Amino acid sequence: MKRTNGFRTGLLSIVAASLLILGSSPLAAKGPLQTQTQQTTLQKAPLTQTRIEAVLKEAYEKFKNDNGGKNADYIKALAEVDPKIFGITLVTPDGKVYEIGDTDAQVSIQSISKVFTAALVIQERGETFLQEKIGVNATGLPFNSIMAIELHNGSASNPFVNAGAIQSTSWVKAKDSKERWFKIKQNMNDYAGKKLAFNEVVYESEVNDNKRNQAISKLLDAYGRMGSDPLEATTVYTKQCSVNVSSHDLGVMGATFANHGVNPVTGKRVLDRKYVPKILAVMATAGLYDNAGDWLYLTGTPAKSGVGGGILAIVPGKLGIGVVSPPLDKYGNSVRGQKAAAYIIDKLGLNPLAQ
Ligand code: GLN
Repeated sequence: MKRTNGFRTGLLSIVAASLLILGSSPLAAKGPLQTQTQQTTLQKAPLTQTRIEAVLKEAYEKFKNDNGGKNADYIKALAEVDPKIFGITLVTPDGKVYEIGDTDAQVSIQSISKVFTAALVIQERGETFLQEKIGVNATGLPFNSIMAIELHNGSASNPFVNAGAIQSTSWVKAKDSKERWFKIKQNMNDYAGKKLAFNEVVYESEVNDNKRNQAISKLLDAYGRMGSDPLEATTVYTKQCSVNVSSHDLGVMGATFANHGVNPVTGKRVLDRKYVPKILAVMATAGLYDNAGDWLYLTGTPAKSGVGGGILAIVPGKLGIGVVSPPLDKYGNSVRGQKAAAYIIDKLGLNPLAQ
């Protein structure tokens, strides 16, 4: 008790002394102004290789032993994935790669695939279609909510909840579901700049566990919102979720958005530049589901998570960030993934809303 009092007295004298040093204006001692100054300094510091490498290492060391969260288990195969996997990859728009940890370890892409299928739909059908047919608003409800559909007159609300994602899949132009799957897979390969592997084990497990998604697709069909057969679309959607990615792949996929739609490794344009901010806007609104607001408040970046443990965050024009770490929080977002990405964005002064 005595020590606490002594500590408090000490603290008060330090505060009083600082006030004297800073002058008589009460504003001079206020926190927000100091924070602002610090952020401006951070933003002005060039994004050098040394700085990026140092912050990346710090983030890895800081969170590598964080064992918060739990693997998804509503898809049985996801519970079996090694929870210790932790890889972080940063890719700049000129294709430079910075990475640390298990950056080759692969997990199923899950919901992060929704971004690329939505991008394919906007590319084929335009921004009005995406906004009016599928929606671009947050639901405020869990990613597999059926109630959200009913509350919004049969609208899925956005392409990043399961309803909107299954709907997007159904609207990809193709003569049949085989061709639809082929296009969706090829599109993800183009963003990654390589042929991504298909995870049979996860697919087999999920295709037998996806009754809820089947129900969602049927409900949307009843509202006249599906572009092709609902159960076929659900199967293609389940396949797209079962594609494997590493943090390296996610980093390159993110950098393709950061580079305005051109894959910085292959040089291939995969999305019209005008659509990039549209997809990023939906990621900012709904990428981390019912926790998207907290994420945006913290980092200012568009991001997308998947229940396989991947996180993709984008600093427009500057960086693609891919993190893989399977244990999730209650919203279905990777715990270490969010912490590591948020730390890196903060320490490098990259919050786009603070530029
Ligand atoms: N395939 C998963 C599902 O449909 C994707 C969910 C997610 O990653 N949030 O439930």
